[in-house]
Amino acid sequence: MMSSWKPAIGRLLSSLETRLVGALALIVVATVLLQVVTQREAFGLRHEGEALVHASAIAENADQFAEAVGKLRMATNRGLVASDDTADELTDAAIAIGDRLGKLRNSGMALYDLPEASDPFADLDKHIAAILEIQSRHNAGQGLIDRIEARNNAMAGLAARIVERAHAEREAAQRRLVASIGRWQMLVLGTGLVTILIVSLVLFDILRNILPAVRRMHGSLQRLANGDLDIEIGSFRLKELKDLSGPLETFRRNAKAVKNLAFSDPATGLPNRRAFQEDVTWLFSAAPDRRFACMLIDIDRFKHINDDYGHAAGDDLVRLIGARLKANLGDGSIVARVGGDEFAVCIEMAEGESATVLASRLTDSVRTPFSLGEYSVAITASIGVAEVEASDEADIDEILRNADMALYASKKNGRNSATGFAPQMAEERAVDRALEKDLETAFERGELRMVYQPIHPVSDTVQEVEALVRWKHPDLGEVPPSTFIPAAERSGQMVRLGEWIIRRALADFARWPDMTMSINLSPLQLQHDGFSAFLLDACGRHGIAPQRLFLEVTESLSIERNTRALLTLNLLRNLGFRIALDDFGTGYSSLSMVKSFKFDRMKLDRSLVMDLGQDPASVAVLEAAVTMARHVGAEVVAEGISEAHLIDATKGAGCTHLQGYFYSQPIEADEVPHYFAVEPDMRSEVA
Ligand code: C2E
Ligand code: MG
Ligand code: MG
Repeated sequence: MMSSWKPAIGRLLSSLETRLVGALALIVVATVLLQVVTQREAFGLRHEGEALVHASAIAENADQFAEAVGKLRMATNRGLVASDDTADELTDAAIAIGDRLGKLRNSGMALYDLPEASDPFADLDKHIAAILEIQSRHNAGQGLIDRIEARNNAMAGLAARIVERAHAEREAAQRRLVASIGRWQMLVLGTGLVTILIVSLVLFDILRNILPAVRRMHGSLQRLANGDLDIEIGSFRLKELKDLSGPLETFRRNAKAVKNLAFSDPATGLPNRRAFQEDVTWLFSAAPDRRFACMLIDIDRFKHINDDYGHAAGDDLVRLIGARLKANLGDGSIVARVGGDEFAVCIEMAEGESATVLASRLTDSVRTPFSLGEYSVAITASIGVAEVEASDEADIDEILRNADMALYASKKNGRNSATGFAPQMAEERAVDRALEKDLETAFERGELRMVYQPIHPVSDTVQEVEALVRWKHPDLGEVPPSTFIPAAERSGQMVRLGEWIIRRALADFARWPDMTMSINLSPLQLQHDGFSAFLLDACGRHGIAPQRLFLEVTESLSIERNTRALLTLNLLRNLGFRIALDDFGTGYSSLSMVKSFKFDRMKLDRSLVMDLGQDPASVAVLEAAVTMARHVGAEVVAEGISEAHLIDATKGAGCTHLQGYFYSQPIEADEVPHYFAVEPDMRSEVA
């Protein structure tokens, strides 16, 4: 039983409504009780008061009655003994006795022990007459006198008893009144105390429990309304507040989640671009005139990571990079993810510290490989840095635009580096944008053409050229392919440009049936669906066997991780094309690439060749590269043979082909037949 009503009471008491209504009801009940009790007791008191007045009147009557009896007796005695004329006195006394007796009877008083038959007050007139008779005769018999005295004595005795009784009743009425007053006082005091106790308890509860809880809830609501989502709603015992606190907490959490979603990047938990802008604005206003470095950090070739390892691994990698950047820069920095593979950073700089040095430290730090479960992935990053002095007026968008231009410069300069913003970058970028735009119309306007640079075999007489594209811009003149090929890649025009190159080069090549040709491919072409079919079709149109073509892919393409490109290369090789690895020796993944694909030819980059004869180490590097290439059965082309002394060195190291300005610069298509028609020993003179 106990256990069933206890929780019920607990539930009842936990409700603010029942508590307040209950408290007020209790106060009302106590007040009503006080009223009822005091009213009831007031009635009693009135009754007791009236009883006392009544008893007092009776007692007074009894006294006067006894007095009248006494007077009768005295008058009787005087009349009888001293023969005085007491007739009037006796009559007065008799009238007074009768009068009082009547009043006593009317007051309801029982005339105690007064036997009806021997009532000494019956026939009082006869008694008086007897007395007067005796007085008038002066010789009354002793017997009669005795009877008269006896009757007077009886009257006196009865009167005394009546007086005694009336007095006793008056005293009793007095005592009852006093007792009633005492009880009334006690009851009023008791109910008054109970009411005061209840009111005090209610007041205590309101002050101690209810008001603080309501205030706490009010404070929470106010802070929530002001957008503070980090408050603790807390727990409440009052049912109404408890019922409110649950949904409020859910609201707070949801609002926070929405805010987090709007202000943070879900994959890394880092702030997003919007949060970065707000945080930097706040930081700048908190530390005016201090120097800050704002950077944009882009992971080089991040697309390959996604392609090769999957998007989940890509997300993991981004998270790890974000964590490493944050660890490197410390808690005072802001590190945000502002794009798929792009981070924004803002950090205060110490006195004399250089922002670009700081950024270079970051490029170094991200080079340490990241562990993605079973893989260890090495990446590089390009960074653009804008140095700013904090102020309230700082335009964060403009700062980010500047950092972006510096980042663009880092990427253009071969990535894996940090560049500080310089005002002329805006102009350079505008030129690049213009180039990208102009390239769109370059095809129709006939501004593009192909040139051909001969490649010389060391031991046989096969005639070969490498096809190289040229763009003569109407305003800028000759734009080098190292400038406009990346522009085409950036602006999504590479596939179209690549197809134009192949068509043009094959059309020329069709006129040189005894030769071999090398064509450069952009990684984007290899990843494009239908490239193999296009190439095969183009060869078919011009009657060119695939075996006569070398396809050069650059080392920057990390084919060992790019399954689609690798599949295309294998297919092309199976179709009969020969595949050359261009720019060998410049990238990081040379060795692993040689392992992943069986190249028919390696083209040693100019940078490996040009120092031969000056730097003994470069001979060792060249020889190692050649040995490796020959080991996997590939031909080796030495690029950049610009001087005669390089010929023997490269030949000596084992290179199978030589290419460079010493033999010939790239020449126009029309000059190619003439070039190969000239006697071999004449060529050096031509060059
Ligand atoms: P690459 O494929 O390694 O081509 C060799 C580059 O080295 C050519 O520059 C060539 O003119 C230059 N070169 C050759 N011998 C010497 C030398 O002795 N000294 C010096 N200083 N340079 C020499 P080019 O034509 O400016 O091309 C630069 C790069 O642009 C090429 O490097 C290639 O990666 C790319 N490229 C050129 N044409 C095409 C093309 O049609 N398609 C694609 N996808 N890329 C192309
Ligand atoms: Mg090439
Ligand atoms: Mg090359």
